[in-house]
Amino acid sequence: MTGTRSWWGWGLAEDALSDEECVAMAAALPGTPARPRPVPDVSELALPTVRVSPPGSLAGVVSSAPDVRAGHTFGKAYRDVVRALRGEVATAPDLVAFPRNEADVVDLLDWAGGAGVAVVPYGGGSSVVGGVEYRGDAHAGVLSLDLSGLDRVLEVDPVSRAARIQAGARGPVLEDQLRPRGYTLRHFPQSFEHSTLGGWLATRSGGHYATLYTHIDEFVESMRVVTPVGVNESWRLPGSGAGPSPDRLFLGSEGILGVITEAWMRVQDRPIHKASAAVLFGDFGAAVDAVRAVSQSALYPTNCRLLDPGEAAFSGAADGTSSVLVLGFESAVAPVEDRLAQAVGIAASHGGVPQESRGAVGAWRSAFLRMPYRRDGLARMSVIVETFETACTWDRAVGLIDAVRAELHPVIEKITGRPGVINCRFTHVYPDGPAPYFTVVATGRPGSEVAVYDEIKAAASEILVRHRATCTHHHAVGRDHRPGYDRQRPEPFAAALRAAKSALDPAGVLNPGVLID
Ligand SMILES: Cc1cc2nc3c(=O)[nH]c(=O)nc-3n(C[C@H](O)[C@H](O)[C@H](O)COP(=O)(O)OP(=O)(O)OC[C@H]3O[C@@H](n4cnc5c(N)ncnc54)[C@H](O)[C@@H]3O)c2cc1C
Repeated sequence: MTGTRSWWGWGLAEDALSDEECVAMAAALPGTPARPRPVPDVSELALPTVRVSPPGSLAGVVSSAPDVRAGHTFGKAYRDVVRALRGEVATAPDLVAFPRNEADVVDLLDWAGGAGVAVVPYGGGSSVVGGVEYRGDAHAGVLSLDLSGLDRVLEVDPVSRAARIQAGARGPVLEDQLRPRGYTLRHFPQSFEHSTLGGWLATRSGGHYATLYTHIDEFVESMRVVTPVGVNESWRLPGSGAGPSPDRLFLGSEGILGVITEAWMRVQDRPIHKASAAVLFGDFGAAVDAVRAVSQSALYPTNCRLLDPGEAAFSGAADGTSSVLVLGFESAVAPVEDRLAQAVGIAASHGGVPQESRGAVGAWRSAFLRMPYRRDGLARMSVIVETFETACTWDRAVGLIDAVRAELHPVIEKITGRPGVINCRFTHVYPDGPAPYFTVVATGRPGSEVAVYDEIKAAASEILVRHRATCTHHHAVGRDHRPGYDRQRPEPFAAALRAAKSALDPAGVLNPGVLID
């Protein structure tokens, strides 16, 4: 990584928006301040006193440096960025550990378990659900366990086409090591640059394969997890019907059952054939029907992203009067133009108008990667930017989207005193349903942003759960989605999860407050 990781916001400090860019971006919104909130220097932060110290044998892998603690205090949700900008770092970990190998992880867990110190596994820290922020005072101290030192591709099996990869490898780091062998993992969440394999596995992340290979789960062959009671390593198998899958217990476990140290992952040949197109729709409902038809066609596009008119305008893919369907196909073995033509044909048969130029595809892609920096710039201007995502079956999709708009607009207006913007896009589609992703933009007042955000978030979550849409399709549960998750999860399963937690983490030190109490 060339550049300095921002301690308060997304990505690299050098890539953050300038003050002028922040002001320009918020210019169209009423009631925003004249200047952006300044970014505090780490030296100005009132970090809490460090309460614990590691044994001498671990001193070399543990840091209590202020910049390191500040940088590990939050994930990267909007509310995290605002609190960091306000210098509210009372939840900073006492210590941050950087294990060099798995033996260090074992030693750190042994010490923490004995000392009653909470351990928060930390990959890239890109959680948007409070997954890496310990809140509470039931433990003697808090240790953030940063896996970034475990970032190697250890082995490649070209016969089975799989690779053994350490959990702390960020997306670009693992791809750089696979590329010379001709392989790719091809898991590209929007947070790809600053998130890790371990974080993806622990949260069951969604990449930007829109169909078929959406979740990281699809690529897992076996996993190695250090739990407080021993190392759990599954056999490398292409499939197995031998009882419940041990890997499925740890996929999505969000650091509460153990620390994932490495995994054998199915890799793929690098694609050499690519083609993409954009199709415009005057009617959003017709566009939804078209996407459903494509998702059920067994064509399996790599990209199948529907942007409503507001979202298309926001990303520069269209002028705000049309919805845009971005379709993409990739293959390592055969040209894909014919599959693209078939998918575009399906969209056209639902009233879509194929675009002549590829401008919309390019505009969407570059805006997409720049989006988190823009969100942070808006946060500095006291603009509320909330995103939430879900999934539901096709029979309920349009009803759900209509309900979100109809019910959330009045809530935003009541809370902020002004109308807000609600945009929707489909990030992933399955044959039986889409994953709608909503962006809410509302004006806030300096000082009230987090409270307003939390109120909008609570109202949005309530709407989703009441419609039996998932409280999260790919952003994990963490601490912030607990109310929705507690309702979505069947009670016998909750009992089984609690029992697994007690068995694997008897001292209750692993990421307390996440997923279960
Ligand atoms: C701008 C932005 C875009 C995003 N886009 C996407 C997206 O497209 N798709 C998507 O799925 N998510 C997305 N996210 C959310 C986030 O990036 C994912 O949840 C990601 O999988 C987290 O990876 P990480 O390495 O940053 O994990 P962290 O944020 O460090 O941790 C996430 C959770 O996993 C646990 N954990 C981390 N590493 C380990 C480990 N080795 N062993 C055990 N537990 C561990 C942590 O304790 C925590 O509970 C986005 C977030 C942001 C800020």
